Amino acid sequence: MARVVILGGGFGGLAAARRLAGTEAQVTLVDRRNHHLFQPLLYQVATAALNPSNIATPIRRILRKARNIEVILAEGKAIDVAGRRLLLSDGELPYDQLIIAAGATHSYFGHPGWESHAPGLKTVEDALAMRRRVLLAFEAAEREEDPERRRRWLTFAIVGGGPTGVELAGALAEISRHTVAVDFRHIDSRDARVLLIEAGPRLLPTMSEEASQRARAQLEKLGAEVLTGAAVTGIDAEGVTLGETRIWARTVLWAAGVAASPLGQSLGVPLDRAGRVRVQPDLSIPGHPEVFVIGDLAALEQDGKSVPGVAPAAMQEGRHAGANVLRAVRKQPTLPFHYVDKGSLATIGRAAGVADFGRVHLSGFVAWLAWLLIHILYLIGFRNRLLVLIDWAWLYVTYDRGARLITGEVGPLLESPQGGERKSP
Ligand SMILES: Cc1cc2nc3c(=O)[nH]c(=O)nc-3n(C[C@H](O)[C@H](O)[C@H](O)COP(=O)(O)OP(=O)(O)OC[C@H]3O[C@@H](n4cnc5c(N)ncnc54)[C@H](O)[C@@H]3O)c2cc1C
Repeated sequence: MARVVILGGGFGGLAAARRLAGTEAQVTLVDRRNHHLFQPLLYQVATAALNPSNIATPIRRILRKARNIEVILAEGKAIDVAGRRLLLSDGELPYDQLIIAAGATHSYFGHPGWESHAPGLKTVEDALAMRRRVLLAFEAAEREEDPERRRRWLTFAIVGGGPTGVELAGALAEISRHTVAVDFRHIDSRDARVLLIEAGPRLLPTMSEEASQRARAQLEKLGAEVLTGAAVTGIDAEGVTLGETRIWARTVLWAAGVAASPLGQSLGVPLDRAGRVRVQPDLSIPGHPEVFVIGDLAALEQDGKSVPGVAPAAMQEGRHAGANVLRAVRKQPTLPFHYVDKGSLATIGRAAGVADFGRVHLSGFVAWLAWLLIHILYLIGFRNRLLVLIDWAWLYVTYDRGARLITGEVGPLLESPQGGERKSP
């Protein structure tokens, strides 16, 4: 029986596993986390609208009915392509066919020091750390008596104007205008600033010009400020530097760059500038027809354009790689992959958004409704769908964000100008 190893239980790996479920292949899926994470809704955990368990499901549970698939919790360290072994941090797994779907991570464009001041969003832990930072900023502002320092606590700078940046900015603008104004006693929502900083000429560069303009207008309507053509040159604990301009902001969030998983490097095949593996049309790697790379880790040109690093592309590639593995096992020739672009969406606040479906461009409430339906449809598990719908309906009606918990020790919130004693409220 052919031994198939899938590395990664994200969108790509899971789609491949589902394609291979119930077939003659003996499949082992390896992931260093025990859960599949629905990353498109991570920003909602970071902004206290949803709980982590609403958007993460144990991989073992998702695949429980597939008797030919086992799930292993382990970290992949490298691939020995010549020896056909996946090397783990605590062992190894031999394979006949391998599908690598290890995804991507943050990139700080050669400035690793920025990470501690501007956390990114990729895992549940990242989202909880971001939520904590945002909620603590409001708590500190509530206690801060100096108006200028309070303003700095109430200034949120988001770096990167792609969908995640736009979605974070919309949610934070709403929190500062609505939630905060009601729950706190000393915070004036007019002091709060949410800035979305984008180096390129427009927001949502992968969407239509129209979507960019409408996203900007909707964000500005919510009270956020959008800075385009503004390249960040420095980030520290007190704010962001844009060339000659300094923005004082105690909370800086990173939504700018991604880099492919370092696992691709061990394959010994050509990578692109972001570290993605250049795959063949059938998604295998040059010289090794038994190794397939998919999702955010794969670089593939089609009709003169790169297949984008989005969930639908990873899922389509996963299904295709699964089918090609089966063809190889059955001694049939593999087939080239064809990406079908089903459109892109971004949401802005609790009831607005933009969407491009081919030549059809939507914005406002209808785009948000389309976004809502698609996300509910793709979310895994009936229970999660129901709970998320209830939470969104609640948020829609009340502006209330039910997951506003600051977990862990808080410690001193404010520094005194003399540098030492904690200020009393
Ligand atoms: C905040 C955010 C918002 C997004 N919003 C959208 C959106 O709205 N729409 C959209 O289409 N796309 C969105 N994306 C992109 C989308 O999530 C990715 O394109 C998609 O997840 C890629 O799928 P993948 O299978 O390649 O990787 P992933 O889904 O990231 O899965 C990779 C898996 O591999 C595992 N793994 C990684 N390294 C190892 C290792 N060494 N050993 C063991 N396991 C490992 C990880 O734990 C993970 O489970 C968003 C991404 C982020 C981060």
